[in-house]
Amino acid sequence: MDVRRPNYLKREDFQQLIDLLWAAGYQVLGPQVHEGAILYAELKRIEQLPKGISDHQIPGRYSLETTDSPRWFDWANGPQAIKPLVFPSRETLWQARRQADGTIEFMIPEQQVPKVAVLGVKACDLAALRLQDQHFMEGSYIDPGYAAKRMGLLLVGINCSHASEACFCHSTGDGPEITNGADIALAELETGFVIRADTPAGEALLQQLPLERVAAEQLAQVKSQTEQTVQQQVRRLPVIQPDQLQKLRDHPQWDDVAERCLACGNCTMVCPTCFCHHQSDELTLTGELSRHQREWDSCFGESHGHLAGMQVRPDVKPRYQQWMIHKLDVWQHQYGRSGCVGCGRCTSWCPAEIDFVAEVRALTGETP
Ligand code: SF4
Ligand code: SF4
Repeated sequence: MDVRRPNYLKREDFQQLIDLLWAAGYQVLGPQVHEGAILYAELKRIEQLPKGISDHQIPGRYSLETTDSPRWFDWANGPQAIKPLVFPSRETLWQARRQADGTIEFMIPEQQVPKVAVLGVKACDLAALRLQDQHFMEGSYIDPGYAAKRMGLLLVGINCSHASEACFCHSTGDGPEITNGADIALAELETGFVIRADTPAGEALLQQLPLERVAAEQLAQVKSQTEQTVQQQVRRLPVIQPDQLQKLRDHPQWDDVAERCLACGNCTMVCPTCFCHHQSDELTLTGELSRHQREWDSCFGESHGHLAGMQVRPDVKPRYQQWMIHKLDVWQHQYGRSGCVGCGRCTSWCPAEIDFVAEVRALTGETP
C-alpha cells in the first residue's frame, strides 16, 4: 500500500496509532480538556481525547461546548500551540560553579533528544513552528536546546473541520488544511480518518497500521469540510506590505488601542510565533553556583524596553506598536514573511477584548 497517498483508518483502529508511537519510543501527547480549555498532555488511550468537544472564541472569550459528535478533533485550538515543547517558558542555559581554588567552571546542560509525538497539530501551529525553526535553527547561531527538542519531535497534523470565530488562517495562507510540516497528515470524518504519510518517519509508522483504500466519497467529504471551514472564517487579515505599518506610526488608531490595552502581555504569551525572552542569573545563597535562565518575555513589559540604561518604550502605545509592527511588517525583512499565522489566540485571550484583525484593518483603512 502506498502510504504517501491518502488511505483510510477506521476510528476503532486509531488506538493502534497511539500504541505504535509509544512502542516506537515516543512520549505521546494529544489534545485533552484541562481546566476548560484544550491542551496537549500525555495520551495513552483514545478515551482521553476530547470527544464531541467544540470551542467558541471571540475577542476576550474562550469556551468549550459538548456536542453529540463522535469526533475528537472538532475544535480550533487551545491557549498554547506546540511552542512550549521546543521553547519552554523557562529553562537553564548554563550554570557556573566556583571551585575551591577560586576558578569558575561553566557547565552546559547535556542536550537530550526527547522523542515526543504530538497528535492533532493544526495547520496554523505547524506554520508557526516553521517560523520558530527559522529563528532558532537557521540564523547565524543554532540554539542547541531548541534544535535537540525539535529533532526528537514527530508531528501528526490534522485538518481543521471547525474554525472558531477568532480564526483567520486562510487569509494568512497557513490553514485550515495540512499541506506540509507534519510527518503524518489526518483528516477526520465521522467514522474514521483519511491518513497519509508526509515523511519517511511517518511512512514507517503507517506501514504497520490496518489501513484501507480510501473511497472517492471520503476524499470529497474532506474537501468539502475544508471548504466549509474556510467559509466559517469571518475574519481576514489584510495583506501588509513590508514597511507599510512603519509608515503609519502617526495614525490615531495607535492612541485608541493604547487606551484599551492593559499591557498584560497575554497576547505574546499565547502567540505561537513570539520568541522574545530575557535572560538572568540566579545565584545560590552561598554564591557558589549560578544558573543562567532564559524565560519568555513580552514587548508589553517594562523590562523589554529597558535598553542601554534607559526605557525606550515608556508607555503602552510604543509597546503595542512594537508588537504589531514587528510581527506583521519588520518580520517580513527578517524571515521573508509575516509573523502571524492566523490562529486568533491573541484575540481570544486578550482581557481587553482587543481584536487583532480589527486593529490592523482600522490602521490600513479597510472596512471591518
Ligand atoms: S493587546 Fe490585550 S492581551 Fe495584549 S497586552 Fe494588550 S490587553 Fe494584554
Ligand atoms: S499574532 Fe495572534 S493570530 Fe497571529 S499568530 Fe500570533 S497569536 Fe496567532
